[in-house]
Amino acid sequence: MNAKEIRKLFPILDQEVNGHPLVYLDSAATSQKPYTVIEALNNYYREDNSNVHRGVHTLGTRATDKYEGAREKVRRFINAPSTSEIIFTRGTTTSINTIASSFGNDHVKEGDEIVISYMEHHSNLIPWQQLAKKKGAILKYVPMKEDGTITLDDVRNTVTSNTKIVAIMHVSNVLGTINPIKDITKIAHENGAFMVVDGAQSTPHMKIDVQDLDCDFYAFSGHKMCGPTGIGVLYGKKHHLENMEPVEFGGEMIDFVDLYDSTWKELPWKFEAGTPIIAGAIGLGAAIDFLEEIGMENITKHEHHLAAYALNKLSEVEGVTVYGPKDPMQRAGLVTFNVDDVHPHDVATVLDAEGIAVRAGHHCAQPLMKWLKVSATARASFYLYNTEEDIDRFVAGLLKTKEYFSDVF
Ligand code: PMP
Repeated sequence: MNAKEIRKLFPILDQEVNGHPLVYLDSAATSQKPYTVIEALNNYYREDNSNVHRGVHTLGTRATDKYEGAREKVRRFINAPSTSEIIFTRGTTTSINTIASSFGNDHVKEGDEIVISYMEHHSNLIPWQQLAKKKGAILKYVPMKEDGTITLDDVRNTVTSNTKIVAIMHVSNVLGTINPIKDITKIAHENGAFMVVDGAQSTPHMKIDVQDLDCDFYAFSGHKMCGPTGIGVLYGKKHHLENMEPVEFGGEMIDFVDLYDSTWKELPWKFEAGTPIIAGAIGLGAAIDFLEEIGMENITKHEHHLAAYALNKLSEVEGVTVYGPKDPMQRAGLVTFNVDDVHPHDVATVLDAEGIAVRAGHHCAQPLMKWLKVSATARASFYLYNTEEDIDRFVAGLLKTKEYFSDVF
């Protein structure tokens, strides 16, 4: 199936915005949903809606089977050894907060180091900043090269035997940089540190194998990979999760409750307090089916092609600065840029008038904006339903933006 055919499977893309056919270039913020995912949610609510794990009635059994079936799909998708290592959360943010406030709280002491990078999303920065403050630990940043990449030498020079946690994003939501997570994990382990990976921008776009990466934790969000909002995943190695305290308490996660003490269910349920995100998990399962049918390798290849095509087109537009690695093979399918003398919000507004959706702002990465010496940028991000024509429309829109603002000033 080519991108044009895939595009037809996403009903939202078949509309006009401001009098123009919609070009959606904001999938890094959230992806669109195919018919199959919308139908899976619809069918669940129409036919199976019930609470899970406790009912003996038929609807309860069906809902539980679908919910736990989705967990198995996630396990297979990231090649985790066991479904007990797959915790459903609200998203990447909740997953990382859970790791920091449980595992981090137990393992990080005063004077220990936590190593992150300048390109981290606030979700993989603030939880560690807070933990470091609470514990009197030292937050260290791996230096970044001019082109927005991290070298393994710099990782080796930053991580020491005092480092307890290394927390790095797999793919940058701003620079598009693909970080060498497997090698970084190796360096972390050689120093006795644990590796936490923010997989929000990688899992939707490339084949993830947590056993091959050997990371201790991997976090991602369903809504960026054709699934619904409100569902995400925390993968953790079993022995870590087994030894971790839950961060939320209440129904669903308990085994026995007495007046002054309680015990917890086994994994993964001890981390899923309260009625879980049943429809969200089922929708995520349908999204995984969809992505697997297209093939993750095909998706990666298509996005590399679009990134190369976009970088090439943008290099022909005078006054456009593109951030991140120049080599399309070193970056994922997004392009963050600025246009001389035009504020990114104005760029996004003019493009919107042409029916083209891009993101403008600090992209939840304020320290990175500071590093880039800008207050904000615009970003076009691609997914399996984008085509070369989308990029042509986007570049034509940029030329129009430049023209418009040259008239204004
Ligand atoms: N990390 C990265 C790299 C992201 O791009 C995002 C979403 N923009 C997040 C974390 C947070 O994801 P969520 O809002 O789904 O929790």
